[in-house]
Formats: sequence, C-alpha cells, structure tokens
Amino acid sequence: MDKYFVIGCPVGHSVSPQIHNTIFKHYNAHAKYFKKRVEPRDVEAFVEEFKNNDCYGFNVTVPHKKTVMPFLDGISSEAREVNAVNTVVKKRDSGLTFGYNTDIKGFALQAKRAGCSLKGAHVKLIGAGGAARAIAYSVYREGAASLTVYNRTVENIKIITHMLRHVAYDDGVKFPVTMMSLDEFDAGDCDVLINATSVGLGIGHEEEMPVKSLEGLKPDTVVFDIIYEPSETRFLREARQRGNAAHNGLDMLIYQGVIANDIWCGLGAADNIELIDKIRKELTAKWQ
Ligand code: NAP
Repeated sequence: MDKYFVIGCPVGHSVSPQIHNTIFKHYNAHAKYFKKRVEPRDVEAFVEEFKNNDCYGFNVTVPHKKTVMPFLDGISSEAREVNAVNTVVKKRDSGLTFGYNTDIKGFALQAKRAGCSLKGAHVKLIGAGGAARAIAYSVYREGAASLTVYNRTVENIKIITHMLRHVAYDDGVKFPVTMMSLDEFDAGDCDVLINATSVGLGIGHEEEMPVKSLEGLKPDTVVFDIIYEPSETRFLREARQRGNAAHNGLDMLIYQGVIANDIWCGLGAADNIELIDKIRKELTAKWQ
C-alpha cells in the first residue's frame, strides 16, 4: 500500500486525509493518507527519510511550507516565486523530489468553476500572508488587469509587489499592483474582491471583519473569503446581503487537494466533478 502524508505543526485540524482517502477509495487505489506532526527542527530528517522509504508524496502545511524547500531536489517555478511549497512528489523512476504550490491553481480553479473570470478583471485582495501571495500570483497568471492589495502591515505587501513586478518583468508585460493600508480600504471599483486574511477564522470569530465596511461594493463584484471554517464569515454574509455572489474557501481547499493528488497519482480527480461534489458534501457535513 502506498502511503501519503500531510506534515505540519500542529496538524490535527487538517482535513486533507478526508479529501485524499475519499479520492483513493473512489478510484480503488491501493493507497492511504495520514497526518504526521513534524516539529520545525525535524523537517530535514523527515525529508531525508522520505527520500529513502517507499512513500511517494506528502503535503506541507503551516509552518513548514518554506522550511521544506532547501531539502528538495527541485521546485516548480510557481512555488519558487511564491516562496512556499505545499505538495511534494518523489518520482518513481529517478527518486528525485519536487515541490509544488497547488494553492495557486486551486484558487484559479475555484474562480473558474464558480463562473468568475479573472481575465481582464480588476481585483482587490485583502491580506499579504502566505495564502494571499499564492492568490496574487494566481490572479496575475490568470490575466487580471490590475491588483490592489490591502494589508494591516503595509510593509508585508512589498513581498507581493516585488514578486509580481519580477514575474511581470520576466514575462515582458506591465501589471499594475497597488499597495494600500487597510484603513484606506474601499470596496468599490473592482470585479473581484478577496479576503485572504485570517480575520473571521474559527468558530466564535465569524463576526470579526478584516475591513470596516463593504460600502460601495458594485452589485456584480464577485466576492471570495478563503476561510472555510466557519462556512460563512461576516465578510461573506454582508456581501450576500448586498446581493453579491460570494464564495467561501472550501472549494479552494478541495481543489488544491485534488490537484496535489493528480500530481502524485494522475487519477484525474481535478476533472471529476462528481467526486469533487462528494468531497464537498462530506466536508460540509463534518462542519455542520
Ligand atoms: P498568514 O501568512 O499568517 O497571514 C495572515 C494574514 O492575515 C496577514 O495578511 C495578516 O496581516 C492578516 N491578519 C491577521 N490578523 C489580522 C488582524 N487582526 N487584522 C488585520 N489583518 C490581520 O496566514 P495564511 O497562511 O496566509 O492564511 C490566511 C487565511 O487563509 C487563514 O484564515 C487560512 O485558514 C486561510 N487559508 C485558506 C486556504 C484554502 O484552501 N481555503 C488555504 C490557505 C489559507 P499582517 O501582515 O498585518 O500580519
């Protein structure tokens, strides 16, 4: 039986086993997925052991997404740009290890399947942490027209602006990125609005808002909050009350998982809408 893991510290909250074991069961794959708590000082030892055992893939969660990078044989250009790896594969032929960041395509796939086109869109992003970095990169790659990033600590936005200016320069294009403090937030004048902060995360915190208000939000702006627990933050509720299409982060979570599984096993889970619906139902039931 092939074994796959998610490593993190802590890792108890992770629902990745549920996503991947449902995929393995659906395809009758001889594989099982486990959680493994790995302390920061033990990441290198974990990767060394992985290189020499009969496992072929693992996911990486907080706080190891950056720590794991120097120990791998190769890293995708996307993961290198956002400076975070959440999926590692060991090639069966060469034994070489490669790191990917599936949050990037996970967000793009969620937007696409929600009927939200990022191409040509003016996007406002709240937050400048690890998830925001992957989303900013995703938004750029999907062909957005502009990006405005709001964050409590303006200094942290510089990592995103620097990254995007660098990739846009390499691509020979101009991509307007604007940095703003949270106090200057204004929900108007955008096609897509995304909350990628951790404000509102966790049961009991759903009434916390990352911004003062959604005043000025256009009726056709598509709103995302990448938090999935609780399933409806105040940010999402206020957007819905205004009549806007508004999506939580559950689909991004599922899509980053099915994309990771396809990198390891190539079962085609990312294109299996029926299976994705099944995973969504299972996870929704778990949190009800
Ligand atoms: P992170 O790197 O720690 O970044 C946290 C972000 O939230 C930063 O921008 C931080 O601003 C901001 N923030 C935190 N507390 C704040 C407050 N009280 N007021 C204003 N801003 C505040 O975390 P992350 O990994 O990017 O994760 C962010 C959120 O995304 C979490 O809720 C996580 O669960 C969710 N997430 C979802 C998925 C998914 O698949 N759906 C994937 C990854 C993450 P400063 O820079 O000022 O500190």
